[in-house]
Amino acid sequence: MNEITVAITGAAGQIAYQLIPMVLGGHVFGDAKIHLKLVDIPVAVPKLAGVVMEMEDCAWSHMLSVEAFSSDALDQGFKDIDFAFLVGASPRTKGMERADLLSKNGNIFKVQGQALSDYAKPSVEVLVVGNPCNTNCLIAMKHARNIPDTQFYAMTMLDEHRARYQISRRLNVAIDAVKEVFIYGNHSATQFPDYENAKPAVDHSDPWWQETFVPMIQTRGAAVIQARGASSAASAAYAAAQTAQFIVQKSDQPFSVARLSMGDYGSPEDLIVSVPSYFKDGICTAYGKYTHSESASALIQASYDELQAEYDQVLELGLIDVD
Ligand code: NAD
Repeated sequence: MNEITVAITGAAGQIAYQLIPMVLGGHVFGDAKIHLKLVDIPVAVPKLAGVVMEMEDCAWSHMLSVEAFSSDALDQGFKDIDFAFLVGASPRTKGMERADLLSKNGNIFKVQGQALSDYAKPSVEVLVVGNPCNTNCLIAMKHARNIPDTQFYAMTMLDEHRARYQISRRLNVAIDAVKEVFIYGNHSATQFPDYENAKPAVDHSDPWWQETFVPMIQTRGAAVIQARGASSAASAAYAAAQTAQFIVQKSDQPFSVARLSMGDYGSPEDLIVSVPSYFKDGICTAYGKYTHSESASALIQASYDELQAEYDQVLELGLIDVD
């Protein structure tokens, strides 16, 4: 029997509440039967007991086990896992400086990277969703000495989905007809959703693309918070499920994901950067040879610069060592 052991951190949170049923419902890991480990901070563990009960009450045919663990017990929570969704993160609270956010999350992802290295299978694949996801992913990767860097990913699929939907509306075509839309840079308000290489082709001379489309995608997360009073959860969970599918299937179809840069599309090496990617010989690699206008290149560079600044900051905070 094909079995897989999966951990989800932030398991008592709102994204996980949507993601867990997708995983146990068999929508992510194909026919594999699943041992699921739910991890959250100690104070949230009693709530996890309720999530466990609900999943038992679904009697999922793919479920072998579902258990709750405290983030203080990653030796158990990450033991022998094949796939990790790192969703849990410390939120940015009112008045918090970005450096404080990086520092708080950096410490979480440092511990988790070390624990993945110590307790997970060396073949584990790791998808970081918790923000700031690119830099959190970088920190976890740097502390996971026993796991190849190529097995770490940060999620930009939600941004791609947001962009594809808006393009389909603008062009008045079916969503599935919109292809080759990729996110460049950071999962943040500096990201560049590339409309220039989208299929069907768009009219670049129309200022709507730069003036309305790009900022709309860059700030869509904030717009959802404004309207819903809580951040994107269903759409984030769906994007995480889909990214995991691409990863476990080693898909040769291109998709948006942030991963260790090899200098692709002019990105600085050694950072976790989103560019068009696909699996080639089992490794997630840059896809295509897309070109960009001067103005788009400047926007992409601005997002790379932001990632470089985050890197410099975590270096200063002592959260990673220079190799
Ligand atoms: P949430 O606040 O509902 O849940 C977060 C959970 O993480 C909480 O239960 C919290 O207790 C837990 N947590 C905190 N520290 C932890 C640790 N050290 N170990 C394990 N669990 C820990 O938040 P949410 O809406 O589920 O969002 C989770 C994260 O995903 C946030 O950082 C959010 O910004 C991010 N996010 C990313 C994307 C993306 O596209 N990459 C999209 C949406 C949200």
